[in-house]
Amino acid sequence: MSELPGPIGAPQIVAPGAPVADDLPAGSTLADRYGRVATDLRVSLTDRCNLRCTYCMPEEGLAWLPREQQLTDDEVNRLIRIAVEQLGVTEVRFTGGEPLLRRGLLGIVQSAAALRPRPRLSITTNGIGLDRLAAPLRDAGLDRVNVSLDTVDPVRFATLTRRDRHADVLAGLRAAAAAGLTPVKINTVLMQGVNDDEAPALLRFALQHGYELRFIEQMPLDAQHRWDRHTMVTAGDILQSLAEFDLTPDSVSRGTAPAETWLVPGHVGIDGRPARVGVIGSVTRPFCGDCDRTRLTADGQVRNCLFATDESDLRGLLRGGRSDDDIATAWRVAMWGKKPGHGIDNPSFLQPARPMSAIGG
Ligand code: SAM
Ligand code: SF4
Repeated sequence: MSELPGPIGAPQIVAPGAPVADDLPAGSTLADRYGRVATDLRVSLTDRCNLRCTYCMPEEGLAWLPREQQLTDDEVNRLIRIAVEQLGVTEVRFTGGEPLLRRGLLGIVQSAAALRPRPRLSITTNGIGLDRLAAPLRDAGLDRVNVSLDTVDPVRFATLTRRDRHADVLAGLRAAAAAGLTPVKINTVLMQGVNDDEAPALLRFALQHGYELRFIEQMPLDAQHRWDRHTMVTAGDILQSLAEFDLTPDSVSRGTAPAETWLVPGHVGIDGRPARVGVIGSVTRPFCGDCDRTRLTADGQVRNCLFATDESDLRGLLRGGRSDDDIATAWRVAMWGKKPGHGIDNPSFLQPARPMSAIGG
């Protein structure tokens, strides 16, 4: 374990399980040993959700975090401030569980928008309640949204999410566009025999409304541990099923963005630029070498990767009265230990104990 400077007499232990980082260089960024620097912070605001997507959660839900273990709004605000002011974070994405369920959401967004340099702020949501919240979120300082939608068919939606809320999601999408939370992106996960026939219909829906669609390969992060490499719908399958659109490779560099994008000839987005569709091939086309993410769970644990099997406890430091500098150092140590890749294809790969909904997707 690493030692930090701190109040005299107190044991100065960085989070249990934190990597030893005797070689951590001086600096003020979230760098790792492989030359990557994390500037994009994903903040999970709750592990609870009002849907039960079959690829994410079991029907009965999960054992939610006890309230006292969840960070308070002030604790979340403080960690985001440290990340932005001391560690070079420039993008903050709120997620969950379902982040719109977080009572203090507007205040948290407002507090992040007041930081300087001002980070770009976005949210990943299932869209339920967004019809009511889109304008207040924009007024609080939110820049953009990603709404998850896996089908254009309300009946299929009810089967896939185990809730009859398709109309609410569509209303949320419309409200986000009307509030100017653009580009409004749609996240879609396809599954064999469930909705893998829907890629063209989903793209037509997105083009018609000016939303930007991104397909995400299903990852081994489901609470039920049912993911199977052999039955997942791959980026290659998705592109093949979109053949009728004559997609052309996007000349704009992908940079650190996980999505590979294609232009859809004959269509423009609501911003007047050529319409695009994205595919995030996390499993078959991994982008770990360009990853710029750092993640904070709703109970204050830093994860340096979606697939990390260890975490670093910032909540303990916050509640132990430690300084901003101590917390920033612990965060840097956590990121310094990031592995070069997720290793899903390694025979020794172990799915992390926390499912996607408790990490923050
Ligand atoms: N509840 C919000 C939502 O659904 O957008 C935010 C959290 S959810 C975990 C974030 C994203 O992760 C969603 O787009 C969802 O479809 C995606 N997701 C969940 N489980 C996944 C899995 N096993 N593989 C790939 N994507 C997954
Ligand atoms: Fe909830 Fe999002 Fe998981 Fe669906 S994907 S169950 S909306 S956390």
